[in-house]
Amino acid sequence: MTPPRVRFAPSPTGYLHVGGARTALYNWLVARSHPDGVFALRIEDTDRDRSSAAMVDAILEGMRWLGLDWDEGPVHQADGVEGHRARALELLEAGRAYRDFTDPEELARIREEEPDRAVRWPREQWERLDPEEAELRTARGEHHAIRFRVPSGETTWEDRIHGTVRFRNEDLEDLVLLRTDGTPTYNLAVVADDAAMGINLVIRGDDHISNTPKQILLYEALGLPVPEFAHAPMILGPDGKRLSKRHGAASVGEFEARGILPEAMTNFLALLGWSPGDDRELFGPTELVEAFSLDRVGTKAAVFDVEKLEWMNGRYMEARDPSTLVEPVLEALGADRERAMEAASAQDPDGDARRRVLQLVSLLASRARTVTDLADALRIYLFDEVVPEEKAAAKHWYRKPEM
Ligand code: GLU
Repeated sequence: MTPPRVRFAPSPTGYLHVGGARTALYNWLVARSHPDGVFALRIEDTDRDRSSAAMVDAILEGMRWLGLDWDEGPVHQADGVEGHRARALELLEAGRAYRDFTDPEELARIREEEPDRAVRWPREQWERLDPEEAELRTARGEHHAIRFRVPSGETTWEDRIHGTVRFRNEDLEDLVLLRTDGTPTYNLAVVADDAAMGINLVIRGDDHISNTPKQILLYEALGLPVPEFAHAPMILGPDGKRLSKRHGAASVGEFEARGILPEAMTNFLALLGWSPGDDRELFGPTELVEAFSLDRVGTKAAVFDVEKLEWMNGRYMEARDPSTLVEPVLEALGADRERAMEAASAQDPDGDARRRVLQLVSLLASRARTVTDLADALRIYLFDEVVPEEKAAAKHWYRKPEM
């Protein structure tokens, strides 16, 4: 088997979302399943207005927290713009692309007055334009986009998750490669970069299925080897809508803040779309690498069940060496950390605060579902305070007692 060269290619326009983390994990698992597999990281930061360095840091931090180490990169897509342009010019030269001088006002008019028009730009006019005239107009500095000439026929591929996928080329419009301002589009950049990085298997969310035929056509027109594709199913909230902030936490960092352990998160993410084929549910990273295969990733959207995540987290809390939970628990105590240490010291015969905290953690960890729960349980012992469990309080008390 050729060693897989896979990549995770997040756009740094937000935190590491659960869906992105799952994509990163599947790529990592595939890379690690082969001794020479490579997991590369590429930051897709060509959208300068929406990308930020802080988000890049947050994404990398989320990946480190999950234990997803990468072998190459991070490569920044914005550094490759010249290479992307060169690919577009290559296609132009080969007659596989053409210059489109449609006036922006004309485009706006078509959009407004003929919204149902199948071809949303005067295709005939530019597609057939004499190349010499096109060069002349370019030399005169006339603004234009470069479009790929989609050939007739159909485009198919054997998706590692979806099986045979087929698109009629007539349903794909002649995609823009370079916009009027000279910036490369996503489909061009991704093909140029994946080829430059030697990626031979693209694993990503199935929201990218409709981009895939366009990308395959570009590989073919450029004479580049076409990678394999695997499109993982969407992740939905309990209401059946795509998982988002509306469902509460949706980024990996938020789950960390809620007291979820990284090994539980990784295990849980793996099962969002993949099943081992038997009833096992708890997998450490090594077992996951061994058990995981793209063949057992389903096509049906996966529902994110927080209850299950918390249950799983409880199991991992129990399995942990309690000493490794001391620091996370102290962190979860936040502003009360100092006070907790003082109280713990007062409760230890030798004034050893850490020893007392460890003792409490060992005693209470198996009953807590999250690190936050555990910190709350510690408060009871250290501060003599009762922290009511919200649901139980709502059921059994008329009002929350003041504390
Ligand atoms: N940057 C794209 C995204 O975040 C990923 C593109 C890809 O994996 O091909 O959706």
